[in-house]
Amino acid sequence: MATPVTAALLRRMPLPCHREGDDKNARGSVLVAGGCAELPGAVLLAGVAALQAGAGRLQLAVCRSVAPPLGVAVPEARVIALPETEEGHIAAAAAPLLARQGSRAKALALGPGMMGGAEGEALTAGLLEALEGPALVLDAGALAVLPACRGALRRHAGRIVITPHDGEMAALLGIPRAAVQDDPLGAARQAASRFQAVVVMKGGCTRIVTPQGEAWQCDRGNVGLATSGSGDTLAGMVAGLLARGATPLQAALWGVYAHGEAGRRLALAQGPVGFLARMLPGEVPRILAELA
Ligand code: AMP
Ligand code: MG
Repeated sequence: MATPVTAALLRRMPLPCHREGDDKNARGSVLVAGGCAELPGAVLLAGVAALQAGAGRLQLAVCRSVAPPLGVAVPEARVIALPETEEGHIAAAAAPLLARQGSRAKALALGPGMMGGAEGEALTAGLLEALEGPALVLDAGALAVLPACRGALRRHAGRIVITPHDGEMAALLGIPRAAVQDDPLGAARQAASRFQAVVVMKGGCTRIVTPQGEAWQCDRGNVGLATSGSGDTLAGMVAGLLARGATPLQAALWGVYAHGEAGRRLALAQGPVGFLARMLPGEVPRILAELA
């Protein structure tokens, strides 16, 4: 039903090559937008993962109060300070600025550390309506609001990867979580068709499904990956690969495999659980180099 993702399969769909004389623009720019006062670090995890997947440039767009400390924590990034609500979330009024900045990027990851709710919904809808061009990774807070944004999402068909775990998938489809757990592949197929996106249905075994219903599965990871922030690093890896010029399907397959393999290597080096999400991106350059 679903083809296993293996090193041999990935080698048959190689990532775009980068020449020795290339500058950072040639490997593409990633914009990660999300976070809130309560969860400022998710954007950091995704952004660093995007750079370690090989993206050339990084921008982080967060609510105003989070921007200065984030800029110090990620000196490689340009930080964009967005209007903020009283609760410490990105305000919906940030959509035009975010769309302008996002349209200059090759890949935009939206949602890590972001809250849903009415403000998040208006922000996501406004952004998707105005945005031109970049490939999209929609994760976490951006998933919760997606059913309300389907109209605007259609403008980006063919350029979207969504990365739900089973709870987020249940909310996306409006079905019980148990139904997703009973048939994760079926749920992923439904979401891929409904949202015209490559779906990364995360879990112990992760399924990758195209809007046409083609399916792959990857069980490279391990239980140590079930840790806070792990999914944020996966979203960043996929965004980084998109920025380098990978197609949405290629970025999803390579990203899921690299994330799982990073977990496998850390488990071998450190023990099966207890390694941190922030340690995963550091494994990625070597993993990608070995697959090339
Ligand atoms: P998130 O819940 O968004 O932080 O994402 C968790 C990440 O860890 C996803 O990429 C999952 O596929 C992965 N993951 C979670 N639990 C396991 C597990 N038991 N075995 C392998 N991978 C896992
Ligand atoms: Mg997550």
